[in-house]
Amino acid sequence: MSDGQFFRTLKILAVADEVDTRLYGNRALRARTTPDLILGAGDLPAYYLDYLVSKLDVPLYAIHGNHDAKPPIEGSAGYESCGAKWIGRRGVRVGGLLLAGFDGSLRYNDGAYQYSQAEMFAAARSMVPWLLLNKARYGRYLDVLLTHAPPRGIHDQPDLCHRGFDAFNWLVHRFQPSYHLHGHIHLYDRRAESVTRVGATEVMNVYPFRELTLTVQQICRGHPASPALALRRRATRLAAQSNQLNDRLGRPR
Ligand SMILES: [Zn+2]
Repeated sequence: MSDGQFFRTLKILAVADEVDTRLYGNRALRARTTPDLILGAGDLPAYYLDYLVSKLDVPLYAIHGNHDAKPPIEGSAGYESCGAKWIGRRGVRVGGLLLAGFDGSLRYNDGAYQYSQAEMFAAARSMVPWLLLNKARYGRYLDVLLTHAPPRGIHDQPDLCHRGFDAFNWLVHRFQPSYHLHGHIHLYDRRAESVTRVGATEVMNVYPFRELTLTVQQICRGHPASPALALRRRATRLAAQSNQLNDRLGRPR
């Protein structure tokens, strides 16, 4: 039994807020490299997510935006029918990637997936035990934070609906994921800032989509060697012992 470490580079396609014809269409998709994983940052129709999952045939993890209709079962039903896995207020480890998601925007009316600053802080704090466990097991807290809204003061806007969450600034400062991917802020001006570095974290507005690669360290704890490998190691050890004995007795090998 031994611990092993290796690195894996993951190609990620992140989508948010708007159906993009550069992805929606056979010819468009064929021209692109197939990602290992799709991340949905909210406010996208189910048919678009369904299309991406079916055509690219890779897992899709997603959170809801403030315009997504509230399904009968909170968060999950709408997404599972289109092949996406909902990760609102959840942390998952997928292909070695440590991923945490938070739905929605700041509360501005009585719609679904809207939260106060305090509610989002409570949701972020509930993630702490999982983050600490990751640090102990994998040497890092989090690789990707996926949210619909941005952090406060980064890519956000002054109106209530588009103001960022303080809780996300706290998560980024305290747990330093490689990426904080968000949507919600539609970019109509190409000069508008959409990528901002905060310490070790790249905060990125993925509207309407972004392709990125991320190298993650994987640690395999205590996995026994395969039976074939174990047998080969044993045979090599026995041959070495036999050679040593023959040498000691003066016999030819
Ligand atoms: Zn939104």
